[in-house]
Amino acid sequence: MSEKVILVLVDGMRPDGMLACGHPFVKTLLENSTYSLDAQTVWPSMTLPCHTSLFYGVEPIFHGITTNTFTFLPKPIPSLFDQLERHKKKCAMFYTWEELRDMCRPGALHHSTLVNIYTNEHSDTKVTDEAIPYIQKEQPDFLFLYMGEVDTYGGHDFGWMGKEYLAYIHGAIANIERVYNALPEGYTLIVMADHGGHDRYHGHNIPEDMTIPVVFCGPKFEQNKAISSISIKDIAPTVAKLLDAPAAKEWEGTSLI
Ligand SMILES: [Zn+2]
Repeated sequence: MSEKVILVLVDGMRPDGMLACGHPFVKTLLENSTYSLDAQTVWPSMTLPCHTSLFYGVEPIFHGITTNTFTFLPKPIPSLFDQLERHKKKCAMFYTWEELRDMCRPGALHHSTLVNIYTNEHSDTKVTDEAIPYIQKEQPDFLFLYMGEVDTYGGHDFGWMGKEYLAYIHGAIANIERVYNALPEGYTLIVMADHGGHDRYHGHNIPEDMTIPVVFCGPKFEQNKAISSISIKDIAPTVAKLLDAPAAKEWEGTSLI
């Protein structure tokens, strides 16, 4: 039977930051999951290039998005949302950074909610507040929940791995715990980041910026198991496989199941 998937992405969350944030749910989540604390994102390690590789399944050299401004792809590739919609899956996106609206074509989403990070205080909590009742009422096949405060306010304002940055991760993990506790039967929860960071920046090809956590919690994944050698490009084929949909032929990654 096909699974349903909630993918939660915490922008700029380093794996060592997740471990150091002090929230007890991190331990609970890892004990119940197959996870990688050394997964690799793509370069340039910036939000829109990394999300485009996450959802369109290819390196930036092929999708052409190398800054935080979206341009049309040089060659059309179905994104994960597009591919799932083609196979009659119900998809939704709850997000706080409007640039991510281009991660699928019009018509691919059953629902989307933007809680703009620049015009809403506590946008991570508010967007989670919006997503939870939708998950419970609509039971989508695939839902993407994006939180941006760790990067924008924790990392860029105060510096990666500082106490303020870790406090923002603590807040994001509290939201993830609420999602976890609200999940109906049959859901896989994936928790990950798009990139890391160092000082008050990211974008470089260095381990601090390129290493991300990826956590898979669900019936198809062993519990308390650390794995290695994962790429952000493996997520789209993995989610498609969980939902019994074929991977797009252009996608470069490999399903983990
Ligand atoms: Zn950033």
